[in-house]
Amino acid sequence: MSMIPTGGIKEIIRVLPPKDSYYPFRLQALQKALDNDPNSPVIPFLMKVVHAQESAFQALKSEKATFNFQEKEPFFVMDEAMLQCFQQTAITFCEALKARIETKNSSDYSEILKAVNALSTAIIDKEKTKQYFENIITLDLEAIPAHQRLFLLASMQVTLHFAATNLKVDEQYLLEAHDLCPCCKMPAISSVLDNSDGGLRYLYCSFCETKWHVVRSTCTECTSNKSLFQTTMEALDSPMSAEVCGECNTYLKFLDRTKTLIADPFIEDLLTLTITIKLTDKDFHTFGLNPYFV
Ligand SMILES: [Zn+2]
Ligand SMILES: [Zn+2]
Repeated sequence: MSMIPTGGIKEIIRVLPPKDSYYPFRLQALQKALDNDPNSPVIPFLMKVVHAQESAFQALKSEKATFNFQEKEPFFVMDEAMLQCFQQTAITFCEALKARIETKNSSDYSEILKAVNALSTAIIDKEKTKQYFENIITLDLEAIPAHQRLFLLASMQVTLHFAATNLKVDEQYLLEAHDLCPCCKMPAISSVLDNSDGGLRYLYCSFCETKWHVVRSTCTECTSNKSLFQTTMEALDSPMSAEVCGECNTYLKFLDRTKTLIADPFIEDLLTLTITIKLTDKDFHTFGLNPYFV
């Protein structure tokens, strides 16, 4: 019996950076969530945040912001150029968000507006911005004032997402590590299964939106494939479930997009909080990170 595969075997591309902004797509996913739950207090606010992210992304695009990349992981160099881009992005993001909040129902958002105004002032200070930047890339999120965390993380997402659209990775590149993003060394939000990827499972970066390949049915934390099991909550009618590892007591959300056109890992994660709560109650931990929910 021959062990050589014949025909139809495609080369696996291990790293798939995004090609353009994903924010218009995320807004569609939020709109769909709002249609299903018109009284949600959270979704309209998140839509303002994502709109502001899109404005900041387009500003970087028109300025043709540039970055320094390296051949090996992590591909991004977290240097002065990246810091400057983060500062500029945070300024643009705050301005765009303020404009969205001020146009209507600003009384509902007075506390938020106060926080955004305070952040606008804070990020003019280069040293303070550098501190925030380092807090984020080292995931020392507790060090960032709670009321400013979402806005700073949203700005960092735009910076790294835009950087990733400028990155070219050799299709033959083999990954050195699988647990963190090969571009920015941030954790994944979830794993995803997309029609375009021929049944291959990828992890999805919580910041730069790059996908990197991981073998199916293995735990990304302890690489065990012994007792990985899937937890779904049928009642939620969601394409998102959780892959749970009984070896190291961790889980990671898993998004199957092969049957759903509009499903965003960040938004589906928020819509499946009951899975998160259920697993947390059973003492399972996750290394997944959702910057919209911090
Ligand atoms: Zn990344
Ligand atoms: Zn494990």
